[in-house]
Amino acid sequence: MLALRPMAKREVDLLVVGAGPAGMTAALVAALEGLDVLLAEQSAQVGGTGATSAGTLWIPGNRQSKAAGFSDSAEQAETYLHALIGPSARSDIIRAFLQTGPDAIDYLEARTDVQFAPCGKHPDYRNNMPGAAVTGRAIVAKPFDGRLLGRDFKRVRAPIAEFMLLGGMMVGKEDIAPLIGRFRSPGNFLHAAKLFLRYLGDRLRFARGTRITMGNALIARLFASLRKRDVPILFGAALVDLVGDRGGVTGARLRVDGGEIVVKARKGVVLATGGYGHNKALRERFMPQPTPAFSLSFAGNRGDGVSIGEKLGAQLSPERCTSGLWTPVSVTARAGGGRGLYPHLSLDRAKPGLIAVNSAGRRFVNEGLSYHDFVLAMFESHKTVPSIPAYLVCDAAFIRKYGLGDIHPGTRNLKKFEAQGYIAGAATLDALAAKIGVDAAGLRDSVARNNRYAESGSDPDFGKGELELNRFNGDPTNRPNPCLGPIAAPPFYAIAVWPADIAVSTGLAADADARVLDTEGRAIPGLYACGNDMASVMGGSYPGPGTTLGPAIVFAYRAAMHARGSQGSDASNR
Ligand SMILES: Cc1cc2nc3c(=O)[nH]c(=O)nc-3n(C[C@H](O)[C@H](O)[C@H](O)COP(=O)(O)OP(=O)(O)OC[C@H]3O[C@@H](n4cnc5c(N)ncnc54)[C@H](O)[C@@H]3O)c2cc1C
Repeated sequence: MLALRPMAKREVDLLVVGAGPAGMTAALVAALEGLDVLLAEQSAQVGGTGATSAGTLWIPGNRQSKAAGFSDSAEQAETYLHALIGPSARSDIIRAFLQTGPDAIDYLEARTDVQFAPCGKHPDYRNNMPGAAVTGRAIVAKPFDGRLLGRDFKRVRAPIAEFMLLGGMMVGKEDIAPLIGRFRSPGNFLHAAKLFLRYLGDRLRFARGTRITMGNALIARLFASLRKRDVPILFGAALVDLVGDRGGVTGARLRVDGGEIVVKARKGVVLATGGYGHNKALRERFMPQPTPAFSLSFAGNRGDGVSIGEKLGAQLSPERCTSGLWTPVSVTARAGGGRGLYPHLSLDRAKPGLIAVNSAGRRFVNEGLSYHDFVLAMFESHKTVPSIPAYLVCDAAFIRKYGLGDIHPGTRNLKKFEAQGYIAGAATLDALAAKIGVDAAGLRDSVARNNRYAESGSDPDFGKGELELNRFNGDPTNRPNPCLGPIAAPPFYAIAVWPADIAVSTGLAADADARVLDTEGRAIPGLYACGNDMASVMGGSYPGPGTTLGPAIVFAYRAAMHARGSQGSDASNR
């Protein structure tokens, strides 16, 4: 039975704080290993940012991909990570991550409802570096039937509105083509019809569709597994402080129902409160200037784990990186009022017939780079020419074919989006430049160059289409280069994009078992951190799809396994 009673437990083996993918995994594994666990979550739902994510995990050497015929090696991945991160790479935690990754996934698959499918081809983001792979490293949670959770389905945080159709229907990557081309073949039509009918049926009983995919499926699978094990989840319980000091942590103070309770934790406390995406002071301290205004992190992630850990004497790291894992976002107008953020992850930027320009109207990046690398280029360009926001520029034919941000492919009437201020449109490039405030001569020249490159098939300025990742997200039917096409026929359109973090890399420094380190580099007994509360093993880099969820699951698993074998904090025996 899932215990939801506020005062359920006052003394446990392991207290886990934060019910995102990291905390849920730590709690689940610890319970499977026989520990008495309490999972405390400040909000009324599980999932945090994880519930809104794409749900991909980067697990080099995973056996699910191997079984499906995609070869990979953890040794190669180690070479890649060292090449990518450079001298600041921490060999001990990188090795722990790579060695444990496949085992952690197999463990979950064998003992819980958390099941994964190999992504097959899903290139590393810098596939021109030694050790990078094109296939075999990414896995994703299998879709889940939310009806299996019954009334508790409402406890699973919903994805962002921009990722759902008709106000509540999730679609996976594999659904996009059949939905767009639903009138092109009987197979597509059947696929689309099944999705819609299932959704209509769902809405008679549930607030949203129950055929859930991606990160939402990962969370629902973790939740279903926790329920089966009767792991108590205390909703509405926020971490206020830790009990103990850098010599040892023995529990935590939680705010519940307007009061405070102290939970004693014999083997320790796991901090998994999702990082500091909405902590203004920490953003200003670690992120580039001007501090990016937008975060896609769950609004409740105020940096509690990181701040409380630092106050206790923990070390924060890495300090010398942009500290975020970034994506460009456009600002949407939501139906019913309010604004949202659309992350331009992979669907539009690499396609042929789109360029990104700064205020000089000049390109500054290979538009097909990963979302993280795209934003790093924005920061770099902004040092000399205002590039925040930058603008994605294309024509009407592009939007009709590929969509643009929150505008779905097939959309012909763009007036609504113009009226909302989501995009700017004009009959000439000069008029478009005037509308968005970029240099007109620069924009004209950039488009003319792009159109020449589209014909020749090569982009000597930024190499769009050269990386495997570019081509993966491009249009394979477009010749001669799947990522280069003309911006030719008016009207022309531009959309403003801004940097936003989907996760943070700076967090509590930890060892290979996710034990938090103090400022002298010594492990603090009884204190663990995972997910975005733990300093990223990638040191501020973004090697490939699943860069945060992969380590989140692996270090949560390692923390739980370590806690199982530990004697707890020395201080607890005092
Ligand atoms: C659009 C999008 C797509 C993404 N896609 C991917 C992807 O495919 N692969 C990938 O690797 N990463 C992806 N990410 C990033 C990924 O979702 C996060 O890195 C991940 O969810 C972090 O997990 P977490 O458990 O640390 O934190 P979260 O998932 O944010 O969960 C933190 C939980 O802690 C709770 N909490 C906060 N403070 C307290 C407190 N004081 N007391 C108690 N509870 C507290 C919160 O309420 C929340 O439930 C994506 C992110 C976004 C926005």
